[in-house]
Amino acid sequence: MSRLEGDPVPARVLTGDFDDDFVPHGDGRTIREERIGIHWWRITALEAIPADRDPRLVLHFPYLSRAEIWRPGDLLPLRRALMGQDADLAHSARAFFVPLPRGLERGQHVDIRLHTPTPIAIEVSVEPAVQSHRQDLAYASWRAAVLVTMMVLAVLAFGFWGGVGERAYLYLMIALLCQVLYLATLGGDLRVFPELAERLAGDPRAGRVFGFLALVTSNGFLAHFMELRQHQPRVLRSLHICNGLALLLAALAVFSVSRYVALAGNLVILASVLLVLFASVSGSLRGQRSARFVLVSWLPLMALVTMRVLQVLGVWAGPYWLAYAYPAGFAIAGLVVTIGLSDKMQELRRDRDQASQMASYDALTGTSSRPVIEDLLRTSVDEAHKSGMPLSLVFFDIDHFKLINDTHGHRVGDECIRIVALRVRNRLRTYDQIGRYGGDEMMVLLPCTGLKEAIGVAENMRSAVNCRPIAAEDAVVDVTLSLGVAELQPGETPEQLLERADAALYASKSAGRDRVIGHIRPMFSGRGARA
Ligand code: GH3
Ligand code: MG
Repeated sequence: MSRLEGDPVPARVLTGDFDDDFVPHGDGRTIREERIGIHWWRITALEAIPADRDPRLVLHFPYLSRAEIWRPGDLLPLRRALMGQDADLAHSARAFFVPLPRGLERGQHVDIRLHTPTPIAIEVSVEPAVQSHRQDLAYASWRAAVLVTMMVLAVLAFGFWGGVGERAYLYLMIALLCQVLYLATLGGDLRVFPELAERLAGDPRAGRVFGFLALVTSNGFLAHFMELRQHQPRVLRSLHICNGLALLLAALAVFSVSRYVALAGNLVILASVLLVLFASVSGSLRGQRSARFVLVSWLPLMALVTMRVLQVLGVWAGPYWLAYAYPAGFAIAGLVVTIGLSDKMQELRRDRDQASQMASYDALTGTSSRPVIEDLLRTSVDEAHKSGMPLSLVFFDIDHFKLINDTHGHRVGDECIRIVALRVRNRLRTYDQIGRYGGDEMMVLLPCTGLKEAIGVAENMRSAVNCRPIAAEDAVVDVTLSLGVAELQPGETPEQLLERADAALYASKSAGRDRVIGHIRPMFSGRGARA
């Protein structure tokens, strides 16, 4: 393999005027073109390549480069590119294929006029046609699997974003789409859209812009996902700097094809990789689940990206499987991270359930909170009206509670409320409902219970509290209750029922406290009477 610097007139190269200027280059298997622009490469057969197995000269993973190729005796070149007019649609986009129908004799050569918009390493081999087609099929299904997986994940992320409203999903969706576009512009898969491919063929800018946007959005996603704002603000700031640079470079990449844009971009990628690595390792050590997901999913991708960057920078040739593993790394990372996101959603749901549990129960007494017991009152009244079963309501309040507070202190007061609730609850059936209405007032719903029976239950509650003093902290406090009872009347609203129970409570306070009064609504009067 030899190389001719620059681009003289093709006819003169082909007639041999420059034979002496071709310089042997590389390891004999790889076209390693460091310069961008047009240069000539000559591949000479060291031994004869027989024509019997329909051989092809294969230039692997040429990405954005284009080539004009002359075989021995060709007057017109074969033109090759992964996308655009010169795309060879009879083959996959994994390589340029040059049929050698007559084989090559020893010493014969193939001349390649190579346009490279970016530095590139193209491995060269000779394959029989059968093998080429077999590998093409494998490559095409591999690419399809990877790209379709990523697109499906992007659609899922979009759906989750719409459903949950979590911004991390939006970042993930954009990151996945940019990664797909990045891979498809470089890898030539976009040639299935000929008009788009025509525009992007051989132009490094589109791939770079997609690459930078993928970097910015995936950094944004990771920052959200690992909650860097709370846990690692300094890493977040550094990541923001990387993102700022990447956006700047994306803007530059629109106007400039300079390889320095790509070079700077690769350095920003490496810096981001290191930051994410640092954040995910330190998060994992602190036991953060999302950081562990990032470590598992992103680490292989980060290793692949680093290898790829080193390859692009020309620092290291990299293994042959990198071209296959690199896109798969994106798909796998997307997959694991989607699982991680749903895991996180689960966690959020648990937190939310816990919060709603806390909102449903009164913290001091463990009985239902006021909104919940009011809700229960409404549904119980509805049910009682529908079923025709009786329903009674007991409303009670601790007597002279202010005095208890004033004498023994607030903490003793609290303890009294707690013990009163406990003693009262012990006298209730499982389907009775108790809730704290506010301060020292509580409410009990007694389904399937008529007034008489309810008054009995209320008496029970009263004696459960006043039967013995309450010991709280160092104090021993005599506590009594005043209770009002009302039974639901036909057509009565929850508010009216509550009002009557409250009136009965007020009546028992007025009558001297520590007693139960039931409220009867007389048939012919809107006013209450006592039982
Ligand atoms: P009455 O027999 O007429 O009910 O007299 P009372 O002193 O109990 O009067 P009232 O029911 O109006 O007083 C309630 C007091 O309970 C007022 C407030 O300072 C106190 N309180 C309200 N909520 C709490 C609480 O959560 N803990 C404690 N320790 N005190 C409370
Ligand atoms: Mg009171």
